[in-house]
Amino acid sequence: MIRICSVLFLGILFVGCGQKESTPPQPPEPPTPPGISYPEYQGQEPTTPEETEAYEPVPPVVTPDSQNGAPSDALVLFDGSGFEQWTMTRDSSEVIWHLNEDGSMTVADKTGDIQTKQNFGDLQLHLEWRSPADIQGAGQSRANSGVFLNNLYEVQVLDNNDNTTYVNGQVASLYKQHIPLAMASVPSGEWNTYDIIYRAPDFDAAGNKVKSGTITVIHNGVLVQDHVEIKGTTPYIGWPKNPPHGKGPIRLQDHGDNSRVSYRNIWIREL
Ligand code: MG
Repeated sequence: MIRICSVLFLGILFVGCGQKESTPPQPPEPPTPPGISYPEYQGQEPTTPEETEAYEPVPPVVTPDSQNGAPSDALVLFDGSGFEQWTMTRDSSEVIWHLNEDGSMTVADKTGDIQTKQNFGDLQLHLEWRSPADIQGAGQSRANSGVFLNNLYEVQVLDNNDNTTYVNGQVASLYKQHIPLAMASVPSGEWNTYDIIYRAPDFDAAGNKVKSGTITVIHNGVLVQDHVEIKGTTPYIGWPKNPPHGKGPIRLQDHGDNSRVSYRNIWIREL
């Protein structure tokens, strides 16, 4: 009998041998893989759904599209009515870029960059830009502008439609640092959207960078920069630099070669 039972698996063996039926054996605990562990998920695992439900902090209510397309908690930086939030970078004078009747603004060539009067750190930024339908120039000289975060880090604006240039300086690149994941431009003459999430770097008291900034860019709904590390400033010539800084303005570039780039619907949410 013992020999017969020995060929059966354990549960049948017990029954077959006339022993009392017991609780089925539990599956072994899965091995804990090495790596990240979370203190809040240590100890006795909850056995009811209520134990893993949170009721605070309650997220604030934000109404999308409540300010002509901007969320209710956004600061509108440009809605076509004027340049109240902006100043010329060169001397803090009144903006002399073109204010258009369709609610947009256009770079006034060789007048210089413009920037926000207010300074910002971490942010979510929305803006729309358009390169002219009547194409002029080639490479970096075709509708070149740019959006500088913290006044230092440029997300490239460029008409790259059938227009080849170095890819780490093409449209939606973090200039000369990060090639975009895709070329997502609409045809020249149509409006592009940029949605940018920027996290500023941290510096210690001695001015050393101790944590890099990061940037995420969505171009016309397409993820083109995925939380990439900002390695420093974005110069035309030379290595990125890391001067210590706090908050800074958002700056829009006049590339000085008749870019005729236009902007509209600019708003920001500080994070
Ligand atoms: Mg540029």
